[in-house]
Formats: sequence, C-alpha cells, structure tokens
Amino acid sequence: MAVSLLRGANYSAAMATSFCPSLPQHYFKPIPIFKFSQSSFSIKVFSSQSSSDEISTRVGFLGLGIMGSPMAQNLLKAGCDVTVWNRTKSKCDPLIDLGAKYKPSPGEVAASCDVTFAMLADPESALAVACGEDGAASGMSPGKGYVDVSTVDGPTSKLINAQIKETGALFLEAPVSGSKKPAEDGQLIFLTAGDKPLYDKVASYLDIMGKSRFYLGDVGNGAAMKLVVNMIMGSMMTSFAEGLLLSEKVGLDPGVVVEVISQGAISAPMFSMKGPSMVQSKYPTAFPLKHQQKDMRLALGLAESVSQSTPIAAAANELYKVAKSHGLSDHDFSAVIEALKVKLKD
Ligand code: NAP
Repeated sequence: MAVSLLRGANYSAAMATSFCPSLPQHYFKPIPIFKFSQSSFSIKVFSSQSSSDEISTRVGFLGLGIMGSPMAQNLLKAGCDVTVWNRTKSKCDPLIDLGAKYKPSPGEVAASCDVTFAMLADPESALAVACGEDGAASGMSPGKGYVDVSTVDGPTSKLINAQIKETGALFLEAPVSGSKKPAEDGQLIFLTAGDKPLYDKVASYLDIMGKSRFYLGDVGNGAAMKLVVNMIMGSMMTSFAEGLLLSEKVGLDPGVVVEVISQGAISAPMFSMKGPSMVQSKYPTAFPLKHQQKDMRLALGLAESVSQSTPIAAAANELYKVAKSHGLSDHDFSAVIEALKVKLKD
C-alpha cells in the first residue's frame, strides 16, 4: 500500500516500520493529521508524501555535539541503520554502543550511506565537513542526498549546495528550531529548503527527530528563516536579562518577575525555562552563547544584504560579544546577563 495514503497515527506506524523494521512499538508517536497552509513562499507539511520504496535505509550523521548526538540517537532508537562521524571521535562512542557504525571521515560516511545529515557548529565547520579534504562531497554521487541541519548563512548553504550538486547528489538545508531538550524528545522544527525530491525522501527521518517541518523553496530560505527566528530570540533574551537586573536594583524579587511574566501576554517558554536559573546566576548549557552570537552576526549580515535596519539586534549582538570576551562562550546563551552585570560594575 502506498504509504502516502495513510494519515495520522496509522501513517506514523506504517511509515516508521517501512524503513526502520525494528522500530519498537512504544516509539510510535502520533503525527498531527495532514495540514497544509501556503503563504507566498512557504509550505507547511505535517505528513509525508514519500513512499516506502523511496526511502533509504543507510543514514549517515556527521557532528555529534549537543544537538547532533540526541538526533542521531533518536534515529538509532527508531531502528535506523546509522553511521556516525565526529571530529572528536570519543563523542561517537555512546552512539556506537547503541549500534551505530563508524567511519573515520565524512567522505567515507557519505560513500557508505544513502542520506547523510550534518549538524556542525558554524559556517566554517559546515563548509569544511561538506567540501573540505575527505569531506562529505568526496563520497557523494547520483542517488545520494546531503541534508545540512546546521545553522549557517544562505551564502554558505548555497556553496555547499553547489559542491554537492556537482557530484550528482541532492541537497537540502534543514536548520532546526528547538534546543537540547526538543532534540532529545524528537520535537524539533525543521526549516528546510532545496531539492524537493530529497525533502520527500527524508521526510520520515525528519519526523523521527522533529515534530514539524516546513518546506520553504530555494536554498537560502531555510537559513534565512532560522536566522530571523534566532535574531528575535537573541534580542528577547537580552531584554529579559535587562529586566531581571533592573528589578533587582529597584528592590523587587526577580523570581517574582519571572512568575509575573509567565502569566501574562509576554510569557514565553524560554523565559520560564531559563529565568529561574538566571536568577541564581546559573547557565547550564543547552544553546551555547557562542552559537547565539554567531546567529546574531549572521542575521545582521542578512539584514545588511537587503538594507534592513535592525538596531535592537545590533545592540543585543554587542552584549553577546561582551559575554564572549568574558569567557562565557560555552555557557548557555542566557549567560548574556553577565555582560550587563559587567557593564554595571564598570
Ligand atoms: P556543539 O555542541 O558546539 O557541536 C558542534 C559540532 O560541530 C561538534 O560535533 C563539533 O565537533 C563540530 N565541529 C565544530 N568545529 C568543527 C570543525 N572545524 N570541523 C569539524 N567539526 C567541527 O553545537 P550544537 O549546540 O550541537 O549546535 C550545532 C548547530 O546547531 C549550530 O549551528 C547551532 O547554532 C545549531 N543549533 C543549536 C541549538 C542548541 O540549542 N544547541 C538549537 C538549534 C540550532 P567536536 O565535538 O569535535 O568539537
């Protein structure tokens, strides 16, 4: 039966078993029934259009950091045949213990897999892993696909697309919205753009790792969407940090401020999740501050490319830079509040 005819939980189970035969029953998660909404350039699709025989069975995963590890782990737990690589090899070990195969270079992973995902830190590492020596492109060929889920800028994504296309393979950019916990829970939001046939082919993998996916058209649109979202998030966090510190200075309890915000129109899961630890000057890393600053920088570049004024984001970016200069790069991005404390002390 064509899997594309199935919908909802039945669809989820049938699709999952079709390419991950050992998928345990408890894994099945209901996929929301088919929804379709279209704006000028976006299509939101919650249900796959792929057929089981289009779906590859060998999946590569490059980059096993905070996000890549749980994403690859979810593919493994779903019974997929996963081959991993990471620059620091030791991060592959927990995945190998769970049944992943290992190859010593991105090129060898790509050569041995039908579809290869990459979750790298930044434009430089995404380019190096895709197009550098022994990079993924060296192992790509017609019939294969490369899905870059890292957060990079459009020009970088287009460069990678061009290199992959030269091999005859397909390319999809698919940065994710969501952090460490959504990655662990398979609740990410994929912002994809590029080759639609590859999007259709990997839809079921995206559904294992995420809760929804958007197909946005040409390469660059996924990157742009991700940068807009993270630019807003980065500015929100700096404003929240200012408010917490101001409340403390005027004798209010910042913990109560967090509670008040959580009950009003400006409530956001981010404030409720990060607020209590920020009040205690604790910043357990879910989204490293260095990556948030990278996203602000890339978003400002995007804005400049179209002469859009973004003064709030520009000011916020300065705070992330100050935080980095005080050694907070690897802390959670909520540690940006420390930059304001430093400023206040100056
Ligand atoms: P991370 O924990 O810092 O992991 C970065 C990964 O990139 C690691 O596997 C690292 O390898 C690899 N890497 C860095 N430089 C490299 C290089 N020159 N060559 C090869 N590999 C290199 O970051 P993350 O939090 O997983 O984030 C990954 C991407 O997802 C970033 O683009 C980030 O902006 C984005 N993102 C993150 C979150 C989040 O909440 N964390 C949410 C959405 C999107 P090593 O292990 O060897 O260092």
